[in-house]
Amino acid sequence: MSVTMLSDQSPRQESTTSSGMPPPVLSGGEQPRGDHRRTWPLPQGGPALRPRLDFELVLDCVHCGLCTASCPTYVETGNEADSPRGRIYLMRQVLEGTLPLDADVEQHLDLCLNCRACETACPSGVQYGRILEPFRLAMAQRAPDRQVRTLRRWQRWLLFHVFPYRWRNRLLLAPARLLQWTGLERVLDQLGLTRLLPTTVQIMREMLPPLQPHYGRLPEVLEAHGPRRARVALFLGCVADALYPQTNYATARLLQANGCEVWIPPQQACCGALHYHAAQEGPAQYFARLNCQAFAADQPQRFAAVDAIITNAAGCGAQLKDYAHLLHDTPWAEAAARFQSKVRDVHEFLHELGLQPPPRYPLPLRATYHDACHLRHAQQIAQAPRTLLAQIPELELVPLPESELCCGAAGSYNLTQPDMATRLGHRKAQHILSTGAQALFTGNVGCLMQITRHLRRLQQSTPHLWVAHPVDALWTAYSGEYPDTLPLQMH
Ligand code: SF4
Ligand code: SF4
Repeated sequence: MSVTMLSDQSPRQESTTSSGMPPPVLSGGEQPRGDHRRTWPLPQGGPALRPRLDFELVLDCVHCGLCTASCPTYVETGNEADSPRGRIYLMRQVLEGTLPLDADVEQHLDLCLNCRACETACPSGVQYGRILEPFRLAMAQRAPDRQVRTLRRWQRWLLFHVFPYRWRNRLLLAPARLLQWTGLERVLDQLGLTRLLPTTVQIMREMLPPLQPHYGRLPEVLEAHGPRRARVALFLGCVADALYPQTNYATARLLQANGCEVWIPPQQACCGALHYHAAQEGPAQYFARLNCQAFAADQPQRFAAVDAIITNAAGCGAQLKDYAHLLHDTPWAEAAARFQSKVRDVHEFLHELGLQPPPRYPLPLRATYHDACHLRHAQQIAQAPRTLLAQIPELELVPLPESELCCGAAGSYNLTQPDMATRLGHRKAQHILSTGAQALFTGNVGCLMQITRHLRRLQQSTPHLWVAHPVDALWTAYSGEYPDTLPLQMH
């Protein structure tokens, strides 16, 4: 599909669009100007297509194109329709009734990672996520499961019925843990037997990190070390807790070491991002309600005792910080707004609090840092992780080329758009290797897995890299417990 762009003239000044198209056609003879805040019905596909989309947001785009260089799909394809500007224009045309919402349009919107790098780059403050997400929900309402129908039944089962549950993930990973611990996985690999697995299973296997033993069950309340500086609640996540249990353990201990009393609510659930990004709004709202209850956001007095809700997963953090929007027209709106107001990414929180005492054990590594999209772009947190890492004795942090460009992980993107995910993952791994770093840090489970996979593919003749969350590095520097996954020269 080719997209012919409007001129840079502001669309608000037009009585007809600058491309010569007729003014927007609205159902019921409504006029667009002067009432931008109401819902704008999609013209194709009947009454089911009614996203809660504020058309004013679409008009915010002045088509300057300053976002295109930051868009991973545009960088890869060079196709205007795969750029933020192109996608906004496609959605606008559909909303105005000048373009049918056909498979071609859907394909360009599906290829979007919703990484929101375009929001960071946009000087006009276009809220791309606020446009894309309701639009995708409308597409899903028109054809339920459309976005994930390319997935096989078992993949959908994994995505929606296993991944959002901590215990199910741990059970599912038990055989993989056993294969890794016994060394059988390496033997099967050397014999070429793992190549007999279906391609998607091979991809998932390649993404598995070296699985550490799970920390088990931590007490519901962990006391602060020294004088209490804050009282925080810890959000554990679901997939991350099973795949990288050491990071949740390190987060809890690091907070304690920095004078925080840590409450771990036992009834907490998945943040809902897996469902929400697959346009499954109902289950996402259900999980949000569960978390509001688990963290006592529906009990204002009890909730007042909590200074912050801490998460170490960028994807979860972005979702938790959006609960007010997700539940805004439900009876849970007030509790959701209360909950959201206290959510802090662990880097953001520790940076504000100040590392006290400072880390004391050295980590003599050359390291680099990848900006997880949901931290850098969705939460606008870039400096805090770097500043924290810089406080680790003897750690040398070197810049990563294109550190802000998505690595291709993006939730279930690896399953729904495997080709683009692979291209972006390969690009990221090449940049990481070009730095000569011995360690790569990033604050999101999806990025950790994606980068692990693509480094493995490229790294056959290069030294091993430690791929870890910044919190893992910080906890190592606090505890002096050097993990087995560190490069050999550390031992
Ligand atoms: S989204 Fe922003 S940066 Fe991109 S074309 Fe529109 S106004 Fe320009
Ligand atoms: S969200 Fe990411 S992939 Fe989608 S248009 Fe914006 S920059 Fe491109």
